[in-house]
Amino acid sequence: MGALYRKKRPATFDAVVGQEHVKEVLKTAIRQGRLAHAYLFSGPRGVGKTTLARILAMATGCEAPVEARPCGVCAHCRRVQEGRHPDVLEIDAASNNSVEDVRELKERILLAPVEAPKKVIILDEAHMMSKSAFNALLKTLEEPPEHVLFVFATTEPERMPATIKSRTQHFRFRRLSEEEIKNALQKLAEEEGVAIEEDALALLAQAAEGAMRDALVLFERVLTLEERPITRAAVERVLGLPPAEAIEALLAALLSGAVEEALRRAEALYLEGYAPRTLVGELKQALKERMIKEPKETWVAALLALDEADQRMAKDESKLGLELALLRAHQALFAQAPKQNAPEAPKLRPQKAPPQPAASPAQPKPEPASGPLDRARWQAFLDALPAPLRAVVREARPELAGKKLILRFAPHFRFHIERARAERERLLPVAEKTLGANAIEVQIDEEAKDAAPEEAEEGPPPPPPDPPPVQAPTPPKNLLADPRIRRLAEIFGAEVVAWEEKPLSEK
Ligand SMILES: [Zn+2]
Repeated sequence: MGALYRKKRPATFDAVVGQEHVKEVLKTAIRQGRLAHAYLFSGPRGVGKTTLARILAMATGCEAPVEARPCGVCAHCRRVQEGRHPDVLEIDAASNNSVEDVRELKERILLAPVEAPKKVIILDEAHMMSKSAFNALLKTLEEPPEHVLFVFATTEPERMPATIKSRTQHFRFRRLSEEEIKNALQKLAEEEGVAIEEDALALLAQAAEGAMRDALVLFERVLTLEERPITRAAVERVLGLPPAEAIEALLAALLSGAVEEALRRAEALYLEGYAPRTLVGELKQALKERMIKEPKETWVAALLALDEADQRMAKDESKLGLELALLRAHQALFAQAPKQNAPEAPKLRPQKAPPQPAASPAQPKPEPASGPLDRARWQAFLDALPAPLRAVVREARPELAGKKLILRFAPHFRFHIERARAERERLLPVAEKTLGANAIEVQIDEEAKDAAPEEAEEGPPPPPPDPPPVQAPTPPKNLLADPRIRRLAEIFGAEVVAWEEKPLSEK
């Protein structure tokens, strides 16, 4: 633990950040001389449980007038603060579990305090105590000696035996808000005479995730930097976070539908050494912040997609995981709901689905035919793939040439093409099983070249086109290269037969 953390450890109630609901009750109990015999302090790590336990121990023997206890400066307070008061025992329950330890503890409890009016026993990580230790303590708790005060501190109160819990006064400690941490750091910076930007403090407060202890440790690391004032960018470096601008640019690309650019930016950050999961986490945070200002349904879906990816990556963190996170977010943003500015969906005609002969055991494997693959068989192939591969392959237009499965991608699916090629060996057995194919070829469909997504979100919509001719024109050949349209066609089981652009005013 850092020197600053030790130096700045609060010695009075007022110096403790947050936990007002605990401090108020304890202060009143001290003033009225009505302290309980045993307290249970539960809550996340680093939020002040042991600190308040020590302050309580200071208060029991403080030399200051009762309403000013603990003062933090008298001999008693100082010795408790420094961890060398004979009547204050701080025990790590996790590592003092032996029969010997328990017997020694029992003996020490029975002995009267040496100097202070009370003996204070602080048991850290109390849920880690052994059963025999709990049993030994239970006897003491049932008939507590006047001179003993117990404080059990734990991150997992539910693992404390009910018999112990019921004999304690239980306080639940809260995570500190970013505002509380930021203000505390601000004050500290002023005391230390350090110039630091507000943005930098905000980022530190965010990174501390509710724990003042973490905030102080991080702050101390930032103080070792030479530059003043300390900027947000400096804090990002210390925390190993990618620059906020880089994340913003990545997010902007994603939200505007420029998925290729998003993938490129993500790869650049990955190559700079940022962990895939850090990038997804920062992206989530940035999207969440935007959403607070401007809530949009598709953004929620994208955030959920990123969050799911984040959880998957907790088990298996990889570059592919990062890429899939972006693809899934893109899908959530653009798959179901075409943008307002986009041309209206083409008219769809239900496809006369050719009845698929049910595979009977008597029939041999279906003989592959040449030509475009029908939807049902394509879907069967996709369904048989693991999800990450499916996400890649589904963007292709499939064709069977004899026993060869040809996957055609529009040229702007550079990532998909590369992945599909790299994963051919994993695709082949599935294609063999579901389609009877014995080879796979990945091709780039040059005809679909013009269909790269235009996706310019910013700025006014383009002027409405001239009134369309009465006769609907035949759909452009490359219409299906637009993933949104292709997905619509998939959803409705339809094919595109006509294309009509309407000015937006007709909406
Ligand atoms: Zn004192």
